[in-house]
Amino acid sequence: MKLILLAAPGAGKGTQAEKLSEHFNIPTISTGAILRKNIKDETELGKIAAEYINDGKLIPDDVMISVMADRLGEDDCKNGFILDGFPRTLAQAEALSASSIQIDKVLMIDVADEKIIKRLSGRLECEKCATTYHKDFRPPAKDGVCDKCGGNLTVRKDDKPETVKERLNTYHTQTEPLIEYYKNIGILRVAKGQEEIVDTTKEVLKALEA
Ligand code: ATP
Ligand code: MG
Repeated sequence: MKLILLAAPGAGKGTQAEKLSEHFNIPTISTGAILRKNIKDETELGKIAAEYINDGKLIPDDVMISVMADRLGEDDCKNGFILDGFPRTLAQAEALSASSIQIDKVLMIDVADEKIIKRLSGRLECEKCATTYHKDFRPPAKDGVCDKCGGNLTVRKDDKPETVKERLNTYHTQTEPLIEYYKNIGILRVAKGQEEIVDTTKEVLKALEA
């Protein structure tokens, strides 16, 4: 299964990607996690990414396309993958369509803007393995510590209210056109985001059966 997840920032795409990854036993490729790791390690890519990411802007298409071409060419992607965060622009989608990779389905998780803003404030992320938590909706067992790897939990720099608005704006103008693009190709599926993570997962799996 080669799957793209499409959703507004904070819609729970990363969390659902994790669930699907376990369910189908294929890796999740998260562009946000890749970029943040590179920023932390102060790589060349990290330096470029830092210029955009903290303002809620997208990294240039040519950079993202080449990063993903490398990543999707690795061995662990042979039997399928879940893409969390790519493509995010029409140019990226077109580059993927033009490549030898055949995407099976694109799943859009539909969540209203008001809910997104509520979810993004209070979000925490593991510095080490990038698992996300929420102080109210998905608290870790122990304050400030990742359940999975014991890493330190922090608030992402781009989860500040001003940046959240900019990210939503970027999503609506740059990423939303992909819904139409994949609908036209005939591989778009839609799941309504629910209050509870497990209920969203049920909707997601149901949508993927179709
Ligand atoms: P969420 O964590 O809820 O998925 P998000 O989708 O905004 O929210 P990430 O996917 O982690 O967050 O991405 C964080 C930032 O990384 C984006 O705001 C953008 O600056 C950059 N980024 C990630 N993927 C891409 C991409 N495909 N093209 C360009 N920039 C990207
Ligand atoms: Mg993400």
